[in-house]
Amino acid sequence: METINNLYDVIIIGAGPSGLTASIYTSRARFKTLTIIGPMIGGQIALTYTVDNYPGFPDGITGPELSELMKKQAQKFGTEFLDANVISVDFSSKPLMVFTEDGEYQTRSVIIATGSLNRKLGLESEERLMGRGVFVCATCDALLYQDKTVVVVGGGDSALQEAMDLSKFASKIYIVHRRDKLTACKCLVHAVEENEKISYIWNTEVIEILGERRVQAVRLRNRNTGEEHSLNTDGVLLAIGWLPNTDLFKDQIELDEKDYIISKSGVDTSVDGVFVCGDLNDIEYRQVITACGSGCMAALETERYLQKQG
Ligand code: NAP
Repeated sequence: METINNLYDVIIIGAGPSGLTASIYTSRARFKTLTIIGPMIGGQIALTYTVDNYPGFPDGITGPELSELMKKQAQKFGTEFLDANVISVDFSSKPLMVFTEDGEYQTRSVIIATGSLNRKLGLESEERLMGRGVFVCATCDALLYQDKTVVVVGGGDSALQEAMDLSKFASKIYIVHRRDKLTACKCLVHAVEENEKISYIWNTEVIEILGERRVQAVRLRNRNTGEEHSLNTDGVLLAIGWLPNTDLFKDQIELDEKDYIISKSGVDTSVDGVFVCGDLNDIEYRQVITACGSGCMAALETERYLQKQG
């Protein structure tokens, strides 16, 4: 394993909107910054066709383009980017240590921006058929469902947004929701109402995904009547929310009962010199703009911490 003796002022773990914004701020303030990208630049927005609610882009912008622009801006100020995954951290002493598959990195501070992961239904068939008709991202896989039928599970913004994205390709989409009330915003509810390809199946849960090598159908149960039936489909898109990506930090910093990072100020953590931003401490808004805002706050608090340390 390669040891990098260079001591960083700050290592940012994750390169979604919050991590990228933090990178812009800390490097612009001339702190030696390393951003470890993880699975992909942009995080969740890399999986979004059009971001049309981020100020400054009246015609909208694709998620990957917005991510690349943020990365370029951080690089302009001197952020070093490392295309690697963090496999462990050691926050028990100073300097703090961050380990990837290929190297170990020392740093005076850390900003955690690892975002969230898709929640799953917990069915054996869901795991078995993942990538064989079960999927979590319309932007990534919609093309595979040209003129096909897809079941989208969920009733929040993600489910309706994903159904809209899929409708550019699929011929029929059923949104299967376990209740009779949506939590999605009115603009998406309205857009779905206007879309002839999309229908709802209310008060219903998916109890099994059927198919040997690929998805062929889902088994549904009405929660009010208990009635069960099968519905033929080519795909099942899971859009039932997110779980915080905090496994790496479980025995290093304090997490709440749902594994979100506990923070008094919104960006501090139980370890001095370790800060958090983005989806990891936002269970409410989860917008690109709020992620950027919290990345900015975490960076400013990190700068204050580093200045105090001298
Ligand atoms: P969410 O708001 O937490 O909604 C999750 C949905 O999945 C709910 O309808 C929930 O039903 C359902 N669900 C949860 N667990 C389930 C299970 N085990 N089986 C069946 N259904 C289940 O998640 P989200 O839609 O991903 O949104 C998360 C955040 O991201 C929100 O703050 C949202 O505003 C934001 N977001 C914004 C946009 C946008 O601005 N365009 C797009 C995507 C997401 P219940 O209601 O019954 O719990």
